[in-house]
Amino acid sequence: RRRKTLGLFARRAMETSTPREIEEAQFSESEALISLGVAEELIPEALVWASLHGLVVGDKSVENSGKIAGVGIAHVPFSLLPTPFPAKDFEKAVDLSTLFNELVDRVSLDVEFLKRALGQAQKADEFTGRLLKMYCMILDEGVKQDIRLGLHRSDYMLDVATGDLLQVEINTISCSYPGLGAVISGLHKHVVSEVEGTTRLRSSRVPENNVTDGFVKGLALAWKEVGNKNAVVLMIVQAQEWNMYDQHWLSYRLKELYGVRVIRRTLAQVHAQAKISADGTLVIDGRDVSVVYYRAGYTPNDYPSEVEWDARLLIERSSAVKCPSISYHLVGAKKIQQELASPGVLEKYIDDKQAVSKLRSSFAGLWGLEGAGSDSIIQRAIKEPHRFVLKPQREGGGNNTYGDDVATKLQELVADGGDGLAAFILMQRIFPAVHTSYLVRRGVYSAEKTVSELGIFGAYLRSGDRVILNEQSGHLMRTKVSHSNEGGVASLMMRRADEKML
Ligand code: ADP
Ligand code: MG
Ligand code: MG
Repeated sequence: RRRKTLGLFARRAMETSTPREIEEAQFSESEALISLGVAEELIPEALVWASLHGLVVGDKSVENSGKIAGVGIAHVPFSLLPTPFPAKDFEKAVDLSTLFNELVDRVSLDVEFLKRALGQAQKADEFTGRLLKMYCMILDEGVKQDIRLGLHRSDYMLDVATGDLLQVEINTISCSYPGLGAVISGLHKHVVSEVEGTTRLRSSRVPENNVTDGFVKGLALAWKEVGNKNAVVLMIVQAQEWNMYDQHWLSYRLKELYGVRVIRRTLAQVHAQAKISADGTLVIDGRDVSVVYYRAGYTPNDYPSEVEWDARLLIERSSAVKCPSISYHLVGAKKIQQELASPGVLEKYIDDKQAVSKLRSSFAGLWGLEGAGSDSIIQRAIKEPHRFVLKPQREGGGNNTYGDDVATKLQELVADGGDGLAAFILMQRIFPAVHTSYLVRRGVYSAEKTVSELGIFGAYLRSGDRVILNEQSGHLMRTKVSHSNEGGVASLMMRRADEKML
């Protein structure tokens, strides 16, 4: 992706844009929540606040900043002000959180559905195939743990033309920003309170956001449910992690609030240091592990050799609570999202009709590409590529195809005989409202036209038939320049009484 050049009123060459987006990409001061002059005064204050409150990431330009805490620290890129969002849609998204938590759990138990749905993608996608194979192996051996912990983030965009709140995706593994999300809301409350007297902004419209403690509660309750006082929580991490402070926030709060210790290991380290004891307990360096929390393992890059796959299998075979288990991980696949949107599928998992209709109303148009029936949607997407996003079964951003590339890619896949199509899904492209924001990176701001994506965090814990926890844990608003396809900085707020400021 292109690096952003910073500066006032920066006008940029369009990447993949519709004429509407091009028109909207010009910054106009009159549309901003505060004037440029006021923004310029607030930014130093915001930067100090961020630094003092741990709103930080590793600075990639400094050696070892992704390996050693405290070395090379930079502020997290942020939107100076929270972003207005209709209160009713915010409440809707919050309300959906517990329903999606339950849905993930229900679907995770439907072995045949997962095998059938992902069996298609498996043929063209080695990574998904490998996860599915491991899942089948675990099922054959017998699942050792009936305590299921989900720490999810369901992401939404508000489609401006229809007013629909539509789900972009649900993440069931390694959701980022449960640690920093709460701090960002704190920053916005602070910044808004600075201009409360002189503008119409009100800090009371920035909603409370306790996502860190919400996720920590899930981890702590899972740990308690296992009942081993000597056990630790094992966080699976990448060898280099610039977003480590987001993770450390969780570890720190888990210790502070519940006295539970977290250790960090890569999958390769797990392979070298861990074993399963006679009673099924995962033991690493002599310490019992009762909960494994993955902040790695969601991308093929995290499995450079067989060693990492062996480590994942070892964990899966142990009696530790896995967040996520391999089945929860698989439920987060885009292919499953698409299958769940097919007529009659939700009803198999959720009895409550009202819940079904709430969930369904958040689904955007989603289409599978395998089989003869998919010809017409493929032809439509080739003709009108700007209306679609083409998605593989991948996580972590930067994997999707947009604009004219959708047509090119589809034509290639068809020309190759069509077998590769099963690895992708097509999704209706959502066009969110455009706002005017001040984005701050590396201490410098740029004034931009932006769009935002709302993430709602949810925690779910279940032991057999007993639901111990099913809560919405907090939120994260990510804001990006309107003409970029992905990426973004953190923001979140209410300008009017009917708007939250997120
Ligand atoms: P990932 O698991 O890689 O995060 P996503 O489905 O969230 O995959 O896609 C990444 C980003 O692409 C989203 O955060 C959003 O900015 C953009 N995006 C994804 N789907 C759509 C869509 N249907 N319409 C518009 N933008 C989308
Ligand atoms: Mg994702
Ligand atoms: Mg995403």
